[in-house]
Amino acid sequence: LVEVRGVNKYFGVHHVLKDIDLDVQRGEVVIVIGPSGSGKSTLCRSINRLETIDSGDIYIDGNLLPEEGKALAHLRSEVGMVFQSFNLFAHKTVLENVTLAPIKVHKTSKADAKKRAMELLTRVGVADHANKLPAQLSGGQQQRVAIARSLAMDPKVILLDEPTSALDPEMINEVLDVMIELARSGMTMLVVTHEMGFAKKAADRVVFMSDGAIVEEAPPEEFFSHPKSDRAKDFLSKIL
Ligand code: ATP
Ligand code: MG
Repeated sequence: LVEVRGVNKYFGVHHVLKDIDLDVQRGEVVIVIGPSGSGKSTLCRSINRLETIDSGDIYIDGNLLPEEGKALAHLRSEVGMVFQSFNLFAHKTVLENVTLAPIKVHKTSKADAKKRAMELLTRVGVADHANKLPAQLSGGQQQRVAIARSLAMDPKVILLDEPTSALDPEMINEVLDVMIELARSGMTMLVVTHEMGFAKKAADRVVFMSDGAIVEEAPPEEFFSHPKSDRAKDFLSKIL
């Protein structure tokens, strides 16, 4: 569903993505882990075209990622993105946050968008807070709203970049539980996270990045118990 082929990206002279090849199959849950600065966020942002790439190709469901314009807006609606820092619209209610894009981009009627939003907010466990502003919610609740907002566009794949790393420890599990449910429902997901519990419960494959390159990939049991490269061993010894 997501095909990344020979992608390179520079920030000035700094080579941050080096010949990246990555496939995410439909229904697959792929975890990306690696040290700070290894290029995980840049890879996610490239797949959603929030960053341009210098060479290589990215296909979503067989379509080459467009450069700009209407085709790009359409593609963005197929590739959901959830960030570390929630990024909710601060002056809109929870419900408005979730209905805004379907109404604007998909031209969904207000009534339909609201009905669907309430279903999604129920699914992530925050329906009671629909009429509040984001600031009135806890971090974990805000992140669940961000996931619901992303789902409201019926994306083909969701990219989640360290969705729990800005949260207080007691809120991490409520967000991971939503992600696990999403994974089990068959959603295609690319998740940057160091949450091993999530990886073991929900991931099909772990991709380890270091210094802009994919160094190894394996199913979670295999990767965590028998990392092959020295860089992965070193990294795991620091986080486990
Ligand atoms: P972290 O675990 O800290 O989130 P990461 O693996 O997500 O790290 P990236 O944010 O993708 O890493 O950054 C990869 C490299 O690109 C880093 O060296 C970073 O300093 C650099 N970089 C990222 N964004 C920019 C930018 N907008 N301009 C210049 N350099 C950047
Ligand atoms: Mg990052």
